[in-house]
Amino acid sequence: MRLVDTHVHLCSSRFNVDRERLLKDVQEKLEFVVEVSYNRKTFTCAKELAEKFSFVYFSVGIHPHDSEEDFDESFLDEARKVINHPKCVAVGEIGLDFYRDLSPRSVQERAFLKQLELALESGKTVILHVRDAYDRIIELLRGFNMSFRGVVHSFSGKMNHAEAFLEMGFDIGISGPITYPKNSKLREVVAGVPLERIQIETDAPFLPPQSHRGKRNDPLKVVYVAEEVARIKSVSIEDASKIFVENARRLFGI
Ligand SMILES: [Zn+2]
Repeated sequence: MRLVDTHVHLCSSRFNVDRERLLKDVQEKLEFVVEVSYNRKTFTCAKELAEKFSFVYFSVGIHPHDSEEDFDESFLDEARKVINHPKCVAVGEIGLDFYRDLSPRSVQERAFLKQLELALESGKTVILHVRDAYDRIIELLRGFNMSFRGVVHSFSGKMNHAEAFLEMGFDIGISGPITYPKNSKLREVVAGVPLERIQIETDAPFLPPQSHRGKRNDPLKVVYVAEEVARIKSVSIEDASKIFVENARRLFGI
């Protein structure tokens, strides 16, 4: 059985001590991973990682947290240059985070819309980061009046939000929190989303599954997410894993 991790941050300094060893394990156990960048620094690293390892793909984008600090026209120029790189599969993670509000909301929205346009003009998949801003981002996306290709990474919204995203073409990204005992709401959402529209991910080093809470997460732990989704959907992990790999290949064109 082989799985994928559609959202990792192996460039994080928390992997400095054992990145090479971990990448060997990833190569052995997973089909491929998508190294998601979130600011200028990680974007350079993500590209280098993807050039070095055949099973690593990467995205380019500025996270809402970093939008004030890192997003400007020169970034867009840089992004346009790299977007047609053979291993660049997405624009992200981009979106809105009204939970932490680390950049002013107006700045977040501008950075999000400009990068969304970049994804649309280049035909790339969109990786969305949304926290406490589901209604607003759905409103903005509906303004485009079109169908998208993308994923709402580490989904934490309600069922009506999931339905709105599915309708607009977005898949639903599920990560470690699906294993948290208190997260029955997210399990209900998963029960209502077709298996073909679910993307599994870790967001490593963040969001470890229940059995590893408080510790560093890593891409191999995507198996806990896959097992929980398979259990909710009453399918075998073997069958589910094949579907997860197909889902990710379709989403990113890999
Ligand atoms: Zn992330």
